Amino acid sequence: MSEISNQIKLAARTEGSQTTEVAIGESVKVGGKPVVIIGGPCTVENAEQMEIVASKLKGSCNAIRGGVHKPRSSPYAFQGMGEEGLDILQSMSQKHGMPTVTEVMSVEQLAACDEKADMLQVGSRNMQNFELLKALGKANKPILLKRGLSATIEELLLAAEYIMAHGNPNVVLCERGIRSFDSFTRNVLDLGAVVALKQLTHLPVIVDPSHAAGKRELVADLARAAIACGADGLIIECHPEPEKSVSDARQALSLEDMVELVESIKPIAAAVGRSVAGEVEQKRKVTVVQGIGSQNAGRLTVRRGNARKCARG
Ligand code: PEP
Ligand code: MN
Repeated sequence: MSEISNQIKLAARTEGSQTTEVAIGESVKVGGKPVVIIGGPCTVENAEQMEIVASKLKGSCNAIRGGVHKPRSSPYAFQGMGEEGLDILQSMSQKHGMPTVTEVMSVEQLAACDEKADMLQVGSRNMQNFELLKALGKANKPILLKRGLSATIEELLLAAEYIMAHGNPNVVLCERGIRSFDSFTRNVLDLGAVVALKQLTHLPVIVDPSHAAGKRELVADLARAAIACGADGLIIECHPEPEKSVSDARQALSLEDMVELVESIKPIAAAVGRSVAGEVEQKRKVTVVQGIGSQNAGRLTVRRGNARKCARG
């Protein structure tokens, strides 16, 4: 602990302390034994899209993501549906009983998002928007705080500290890749930071392999690696028609691949003493292959997943 700022008072893990469990809506908790999976599109595009997403991901994901305020690099790119999108998210959530995660970019957007969504995301570009962080300290909903594009681990923890010091203890950290010299992957997924954060803070830490990779074919393996190294959950972009996504199309998984990915996470989670929240499927699978031992059964499930992926090209 001496290597990190003594200004990290509320977020710091004290010796032997448990990871804090942060509730998203009424039924989901991040930071306990089950890892939590959040899936959905980069951007909420229309009600029909979100209906398909929710109905297909219901048995696999624990919460649905979807941006209505989008931080686009270009001012000419689609900026999100705004409050209309928020209403789509809310009615989808009420119909399917799934909590929602959406990004808040400014203090002005906070009240409506706080009322209508279940978790408020601070995007990478806003990790050090201190006025926003202070306002989120007064929010009623838990915060998903994404690491800045070039933020250090300490800066991420200090950003969390801002939210906590202003009154909101419900913060989940998210490693989503950092900028480096190689543009082959969109960012570099810093799994070392995940391991370090798990030691430095009692706050749950989840991983976003989608924005890290920037390419859909890299997402599943990075997601499994994240769970293997101790992440408390994943947030992954997927879309009914990935190539047609209005934003981040290149990294979006199909809903079918998303469901398959969640299945492949289960044996990895089990291998590190975790489960997947709402896990039902795995019990059936493990029973089927009990003869060869549940550890090997896990390996088989993962390999089958990879084989299917390769076969599809
Ligand atoms: C997003 O989640 O769609 C997003 C913009 O993420 P990030 O802030 O990590 O780039
Ligand atoms: Mn995105």
